[in-house]
Amino acid sequence: MLVPYHPRLIEELRAPTAAAPLRVLVSGCIAGWGCGVDGTDYGMKGSLTDVLARENVRAFPFCPEQHALGVPRSMPDIHGGDGVDVMHGRARVLDEHGVDLTEKMLEGARAMVAFALENRVELALLTDMSGACGSQVISLGCRFDKPRRFQKGVGVATALLLDAGIHVMSQRDFRSLELLRKRLDAGHVPNIEARDHHEHPWTLSQLSEPHPRQ
Ligand code: SF4
Repeated sequence: MLVPYHPRLIEELRAPTAAAPLRVLVSGCIAGWGCGVDGTDYGMKGSLTDVLARENVRAFPFCPEQHALGVPRSMPDIHGGDGVDVMHGRARVLDEHGVDLTEKMLEGARAMVAFALENRVELALLTDMSGACGSQVISLGCRFDKPRRFQKGVGVATALLLDAGIHVMSQRDFRSLELLRKRLDAGHVPNIEARDHHEHPWTLSQLSEPHPRQ
């Protein structure tokens, strides 16, 4: 199984062209779909347009929660582990009312993997903190509990994608995104100050332990 943060990931990507664009699976909300629990895109539209609209990139949007649970829906969060634990039956996904959404989340995740394989994606750019698409940081239990708690770990869809051999990056992995921009455009000068989500001061202050699978 791949790990969610892979420092050599970008170096190992091929150099894409307009004729053979990089095939990227994208969280539907990053593509601007109104697939969030409240029917919005969580304000994500446009966050990666400079990457996804390039002629040497082809984006494949998908929302695993919309696929399995529809819109609007209640909020799924993982209890007792992360997405890998859910995949192995060691943790469950519950909404804010205590309804068990584990099987639905697995159904959406399997559909996302099938979509990714069918479209031969080479990389996934997903929305962090989601119980489905998270790849670096997710909620520890229900996100509506006060205070909200966080854990290092992956969402359910990310776990199944990694298990299927598909690399996953978060939209908050700013350092890796800068390296990706350089890979897509040789003239791009990366911002050397940019940090990935697990290097961000907030993450370091809140979650000091290394990722459980690094
Ligand atoms: S499941 Fe993923 S694609 Fe769907 S709204 Fe949540 S973060 Fe976005």
